[in-house]
Amino acid sequence: AAGGDRAAMAEAAAASRPPADVDTDDCLREYRHLFSPDILAGQVAFITGGGSGIGFRIAEIFMRHGCRTVIASRNLQRVLEASKKLVAATGQQCLPLSIDVRQPQTIVAAVDEALNEFKRIDILINSAAGNFLCPASALSFNAFKTVIDIDTIGTFNTSKVLFEKYFRDHGGVIVNITATLSYRGQALQVHAGSAKAAIDAMTRHLAVEWGPNNIRVNSLAPGPITGTEGYRRLGGKFAKEASHFDMIPLQRAGNKTEIAHSTLYLASPLSSYVTGTTLVVDGGSWLTSANNFPAMLGIASSSAK
Ligand code: NAP
Repeated sequence: AAGGDRAAMAEAAAASRPPADVDTDDCLREYRHLFSPDILAGQVAFITGGGSGIGFRIAEIFMRHGCRTVIASRNLQRVLEASKKLVAATGQQCLPLSIDVRQPQTIVAAVDEALNEFKRIDILINSAAGNFLCPASALSFNAFKTVIDIDTIGTFNTSKVLFEKYFRDHGGVIVNITATLSYRGQALQVHAGSAKAAIDAMTRHLAVEWGPNNIRVNSLAPGPITGTEGYRRLGGKFAKEASHFDMIPLQRAGNKTEIAHSTLYLASPLSSYVTGTTLVVDGGSWLTSANNFPAMLGIASSSAK
């Protein structure tokens, strides 16, 4: 029985063991499929912010599951280079396009180009965002507005363009990358927390209105994720050094592949009856991590250096 118990424990550990990842915006050196490798075969995903960080890894993991992708953000050079890496690593097609999610006409042009190229779009991932640490007292009116413009309004703009151009008539699935910041009023994050909370609300509104069109809409809220601009800017290294991650139930930060796997679940038929909800992928972090204002200010000043 003891041997059996040990085997059961080893199995439980395997269920929370992170897959390997690389911290830079490069593809994984090796990959073992956990889901069926053809789960997205023949499909096309439009990924905003797909040239870097979490969006880049989502593009890679989707492509490794048979999906073609469009990666779109402001910096054309960035998405061009990213698409070369993605195509080389996966052998799938990837179309890099320049958009600013604050400007609907740039999204319309990109979606037209994508449909011209691939004739279909099945999945929209809204991952484009802007963030930084700043106390509300020091945040300019314009800084607050800019984050709302990119995160919240950008997510609406892109979702609406995809709805009108394709999803209304063909169905589709939308995954909005949000955050847990507002759940406990995270210090120095009133701008991003408010923006992401509004996206979670949008997720439910659009799930209700667009469900009859066979469109599923969900949010995915990551915790601290290594190898991202967010992690570097928001003091991840400082948090690791200060052992802040000991407070997380799973005792560690997550990685980009873990977010991509959960996004793959939400974008695939494995979640065919899931809509209007937020999947929190944070190792339990928001439940237990301190929201300590002086400590956060320490992170803010150390990340500003
Ligand atoms: P990232 O690499 O900085 O990704 C943000 C992307 O958004 C960039 O590729 C950027 O590309 C694009 N972007 C910014 N403004 C844009 C605009 N106006 N129009 C179009 N694209 C725009 O950061 P990340 O950390 O991987 O974050 C990805 C997502 O995960 C974000 O939604 C973020 O809020 C969320 N998240 C991250 C963490 C974390 O620990 N990293 C935690 C919780 C939530 P361009 O500069 O080329 O436009």
